[in-house]
Amino acid sequence: MSSTSPLELEGPRGTTSLRARAHPLAPASRQRALLDALDLSRAPHRGDFALSLSASEQGILRPVAIEIVQINVGKLCNMTCRHCHVDAGPDRAAEQMERATVEACLDALDRSGAHTVDITGGAPELNPHFRYLVEGAVARGKHVIDRCNLSVLLLPRSRDLPEWLGDRGVEIVASLPHWRRRGTDSQRGEGTFGASIEALRRLNAVGYGRGDSRKRLTLMANPVGAFLAGNQTSLEREWKDGLGREHGVRFDRLITLNNMPISRYLEWLESSGNLHAYMETLVRAFNPATVSDLMCRNTISVSWDGRLFDCDFNQMLEIPIVGEDGRPMHVRDLDAGSLLSRRIATGRHCFGCTAGAGSSCGGSLA
Ligand code: SF4
Ligand code: SF4
Repeated sequence: MSSTSPLELEGPRGTTSLRARAHPLAPASRQRALLDALDLSRAPHRGDFALSLSASEQGILRPVAIEIVQINVGKLCNMTCRHCHVDAGPDRAAEQMERATVEACLDALDRSGAHTVDITGGAPELNPHFRYLVEGAVARGKHVIDRCNLSVLLLPRSRDLPEWLGDRGVEIVASLPHWRRRGTDSQRGEGTFGASIEALRRLNAVGYGRGDSRKRLTLMANPVGAFLAGNQTSLEREWKDGLGREHGVRFDRLITLNNMPISRYLEWLESSGNLHAYMETLVRAFNPATVSDLMCRNTISVSWDGRLFDCDFNQMLEIPIVGEDGRPMHVRDLDAGSLLSRRIATGRHCFGCTAGAGSSCGGSLA
């Protein structure tokens, strides 16, 4: 498959990337500095995540054996959603995982002990090596997840993709902020909802979302605004009713997650005057019961250029796992045993994972 020109990517647009606008928050260092500088002196433990942790029963965040390797194959996306924590978009074509790095990821899977490979982006399907990566992971007996924005399935290049993924037992985790048009389009761009429904119909047509464990279709919902995710169980019921009744589409389960104060969502929080209140909400909602299931404990995240991170959020904030030599670790160096003794890097953004029912790429935690 040829490399992608931004002009080929006809997807809905909510905004443009911070990078394309040369926005002051485009560098991760500026995002970290903005969060650190917030006056949270009236919040518990002054908004210090490490203090909140140490005051809880858990005390410290310790890694356990790797169960999931999450591979972010690049920042290229056909969409440009307002809440994107990746700052992805059609202009990010240069940041794509190359074949050699994909090979290194596949080699690392054999050493990792992980049972699941979670492929994300950007729109991961736009990476020219996406299918090779899926095939390699499936051949190694891994459960494979494709984090899909749905609209990418409508591109001509993706016509056969639903069936291709289904034939390999790939779980699709598809983002859809709301089952009503207005909520989805306001966050992800005009026309997103219609495109998403069409993509869901195509997935249903090849057997996804119908209770077949080899064609599991999971929807992922995040709040449209500066508030915490709602109750996952009751939202799933509401969404199944709404999408089934009004659009005749089906899915297997719904997971909810909080918006992280990173990248374009951070930009929106700041420009809309919601940043301080949202961070206070996250800090006050710290839930110690979520700590044992935080995804950084059992997941390793790999960036498009092969560096290792505790999670996709640390990846976007450029907080890599460093080796004994003080340098960022590369997927070539992945050693499941030594990673067990690392210290997980945390910061104020982590309150997004521990607030309320908790939040992770697998949904709520408590
Ligand atoms: S949120 Fe997902 S679909 Fe939207 S721009 Fe970011 S990576 Fe693309
Ligand atoms: S942001 Fe990452 S490191 Fe922080 S709590 Fe969440 S998963 Fe763990």
